[in-house]
Amino acid sequence: MLEKGLIETIRESEYTVVLSGQGMVCESGYPALRDDEESYEIEEKYGYSVEELYSSAIFNTRTDLFYHFFREVLLEQVMTIEPGPAFQYLAEMQQSGMVDTIITRRIFELSERAGCTNVINLHGSIFDYKCPHCGRKYSMDDIMHSKKNIPVCPDCNVAIRPDIVLLGEMVDNALMTKAAEEVEKADVLLVLGARMNSTLVSMMTPYYKGNKLIVITPDEHFSEYDANMVIHSSIADGLKQFL
Ligand SMILES: [Zn+2]
Repeated sequence: MLEKGLIETIRESEYTVVLSGQGMVCESGYPALRDDEESYEIEEKYGYSVEELYSSAIFNTRTDLFYHFFREVLLEQVMTIEPGPAFQYLAEMQQSGMVDTIITRRIFELSERAGCTNVINLHGSIFDYKCPHCGRKYSMDDIMHSKKNIPVCPDCNVAIRPDIVLLGEMVDNALMTKAAEEVEKADVLLVLGARMNSTLVSMMTPYYKGNKLIVITPDEHFSEYDANMVIHSSIADGLKQFL
């Protein structure tokens, strides 16, 4: 059980911003593609590592290979895996006014699909596509129903790309500013399924002015000494106690 003070901290927070990490995605059943076994299988099959396949370099030079990997691994996951209980509890917390904004680098829109609103997707969404030439937007349906492996913009005859940040690319400046402003406003900063030294948390914590940084994570990690409070449990079990 959580101490009463911690529950009250969340319930009485003026403004709560959530940093939602890979742990949230893993609890929903998505395999971590960089795990040894999974990444070994991908490398065996495609001849490149996950990092290489998920990069702007491969998109630009081996677009066909990029889309094979993208369709077989990422689109397959997004079609088969649903947001887990942790996302459902997060949506309930938001509906009862306990959570204001959610910031993530994950691209599957799991929070939105569970009913969350006010989500900042720093790395974009796997549901959004665009023509890099004219900027015309396309939906995931367009990509799924494209007869060719590489979907092409009919106006420009160039490959449509997912509107996500690939490795080697920068987060959109305006989006980064918006996220930083949210964190600056936060009374409570709630870190879910991310280590304190992860990219998401390290890029956001410099903007946090408060002293109620709470981490919920199943695994202990040395970087947690930077947090004000830590709950070691599954994220779903941790969040459930606030409801
Ligand atoms: Zn175009």
